[in-house]
Amino acid sequence: MSAIYENTTISIELADRLRAMPKIELHVHLEGATDAATVWELAQRNKVTPPVARLEEWQAMYAFRDFNHFLDVYGFAMQCMQTADDFTFMVERFLAEQARQNVRYCEVFLSASFMLDNFPQDEVIAVLTEGIKHGKEKYDIELRFIPDIGRQVPETRHKVLDFVLKGFEKGIFIGLGLGGMEVGFPPKLFTDVYDEARRQGLHLLAHAGETVGPESVWGAINDLKVERIGHGVRSAEDPKLLEYLAETQTPLEVCPHSNYRLGVTPLDEPHQMRALVDAGVFCTVNSDDPPMFSTDLTSEYLLFAKQGFSWDELWQLNLNAIKASFLTDEEKEAYRAEWKEFYAKVDK
Ligand SMILES: [Zn+2]
Repeated sequence: MSAIYENTTISIELADRLRAMPKIELHVHLEGATDAATVWELAQRNKVTPPVARLEEWQAMYAFRDFNHFLDVYGFAMQCMQTADDFTFMVERFLAEQARQNVRYCEVFLSASFMLDNFPQDEVIAVLTEGIKHGKEKYDIELRFIPDIGRQVPETRHKVLDFVLKGFEKGIFIGLGLGGMEVGFPPKLFTDVYDEARRQGLHLLAHAGETVGPESVWGAINDLKVERIGHGVRSAEDPKLLEYLAETQTPLEVCPHSNYRLGVTPLDEPHQMRALVDAGVFCTVNSDDPPMFSTDLTSEYLLFAKQGFSWDELWQLNLNAIKASFLTDEEKEAYRAEWKEFYAKVDK
């Protein structure tokens, strides 16, 4: 399965630059960044019965039929992640993978709605605090976490907010997110916790405009007052929304392989990114659940290169991630200096 233009060749020089450039990732899920073999290993370790008998069959399940099939697989993967040690292991693998791609800073989602009954919150917070420290020491990568509410279980929203606030106090959580099933669970179901989270000083995000059209993005903006939109690619269907996003420069976290694999973007069409960028919308490039979609952050940039984005455009998207991040101004300046140094070396 390959998307239109994906087999177009690009110059080796451009591919090498995209691999080597320092990067920031703003939309990636820790649980979804755990590959099939690791999930299988965790299932054995925690004595969770898999839906199929062999690892090969489990790996084959990653060819998703649609969004609901994806949620089923994701749900099973989460059931396998049960102990503090599992999370230590997952964070380590995640860091090694991001380091391999020269990712320097990540804002990472946690599927909190499905995690909180498995083990004590303080234990999760302790493990993630350790993970952040380890990332800095061993890989020179900064991590921050954003727990999210699963839309299909709105009753968990207060519990998730309590959890976020605990980690926020300790400086490891920076915001509240909203993921899961967009169809049937509109943003307005969550206004109470978003209002409270805003009062508490948390950053606010939501997946929207992925499996539901522009109305979902409008809902995230008007009902939840989010600062960034996860995906948001279906905004391209509404000229008024495009105009609004361009005017306010609300960042979109765009994840192209995820969109193609889940049928959000038809395989025979170019990605919505071109329409969004051309309309002046502020976009960033991200990998979402990389092993589930057979991708990584570098491959997302390569996909856009193959669909005709120039080096200058791709570099701008990479710079956009610094601006759209929740780093302090001082931290952003430090990353900009590093980016500038890289640019000076390759673009003489
Ligand atoms: Zn996502």
